[in-house]
Amino acid sequence: MMRQRSVVILGSTGSIGTQALDVARAFPDLFHIQGLTGHNNVQLLAEQANEFKPPTLVVPSDEKKSELLSLLTYAPEVLVGESGLVQLMDVTMDILLVAIVGTAALPPVVAAIPKVSHIAIANKEVLVAAGSIIMDLVRKHQTRFIPVDSEHSALFQCLAAVDFNSESVKHVTLTASGGPFWQRDPNTFSSISASDALKHPNWDMGAKISIDSATMMNKGLEVIEAHHLFGVPFDDIHVVVHPKSIVHAFIETVDGAILAHMGRPDMRYPIQYAMTYPKRLSTPFQQAALTQLSGLEFFEPNRKAFPLLDLAIQCGRQGGVAPVVFNAANEVAVQLFLTGEISYLGIHATILGMLDYFSSSVASTIDDIIHLDHRVKTHRLSHQLTD
Ligand code: NDP
Ligand code: MG
Repeated sequence: MMRQRSVVILGSTGSIGTQALDVARAFPDLFHIQGLTGHNNVQLLAEQANEFKPPTLVVPSDEKKSELLSLLTYAPEVLVGESGLVQLMDVTMDILLVAIVGTAALPPVVAAIPKVSHIAIANKEVLVAAGSIIMDLVRKHQTRFIPVDSEHSALFQCLAAVDFNSESVKHVTLTASGGPFWQRDPNTFSSISASDALKHPNWDMGAKISIDSATMMNKGLEVIEAHHLFGVPFDDIHVVVHPKSIVHAFIETVDGAILAHMGRPDMRYPIQYAMTYPKRLSTPFQQAALTQLSGLEFFEPNRKAFPLLDLAIQCGRQGGVAPVVFNAANEVAVQLFLTGEISYLGIHATILGMLDYFSSSVASTIDDIIHLDHRVKTHRLSHQLTD
């Protein structure tokens, strides 16, 4: 039997957050919810809070706090804003799950690393923007830092088979579904709408990552994420398109074995794994029979039609401010695309414009990175709104 674990979920109202609560519901004796946070969806946060009764909650503003208080059936502490998220990291907890989207998660993650011994990290943007500093902190404080992103959870499990010994590994491969457009004629990309792009073939995810999958930006961010999490050189991180999303990642060992991690595309497996690690507990979320997983195909990505994949890897290799600007510019561009202010092709154009504009910036500390990220997000050149 595992001892009960107290859990704080940053971003409990999102796709990952709600699935993490499914895992908590499935193991009521094991997980005790200590804190939850939401942003816009106060209604859902109130429902979750009334069900799990965590003693601390966080919302973005005093207005949201009043709204939340009017919906609660008990009296928790309600913290407010970014400082509230950082303050929440002082709560005694066994596990922190980071499921906020974007670099909004950076301040609480940095505050948590010295204090929380086990962090399950779903958010990838913080690793893209500040991966070197975060991983230095993780090593310094010996924090258990378990990836939730399915490919990275898969890599983590494959690398465990070689005791994380980099000398045993020739290269690692992340699979990409290819998103909704990998077979679409690139000449028609200019007419892609946000609702077309939000329809992911295999995964049901939040809006931002769904658009990132549709541009293959997501896989570029994941290459940088893998580089930081596992210390694998960029040259040794490969990407293949695997439309069924059954194999999540594989590693090739120096002695010629290919170790793959397979499973139905369901985020509750990597979430459960990250929350029960190092134990494996019998899951209520049923795996598919092997016969249903057959017919696995792998293809080279179309790097010309999806230029954000290589641009991400190039920014990751370059390091310094490039991934900070690139990531923030993408967050802005995705938002503009979702609100209809730029086209699908305008996402790439906007990012290129921002990279150019901010090319001479410098950022070496977390505070610098947060500041630069903010500058990029509040900066809108009028020519970037057109494509
Ligand atoms: P969602 O958009 O579904 O959820 C995001 C969560 O963050 C919500 O709880 C949202 O609150 C909250 N939030 C949004 N903006 C802010 C902000 N500025 N400050 C504080 N909280 C905020 O995202 P996902 O769950 O899809 O993704 C979360 C992270 O996990 C992302 O980094 C994504 O890349 C990563 N990930 C997601 C996967 C998935 O399957 N969904 C798979 C692998 C990785 P509210 O909804 O109340 O506004
Ligand atoms: Mg992923």
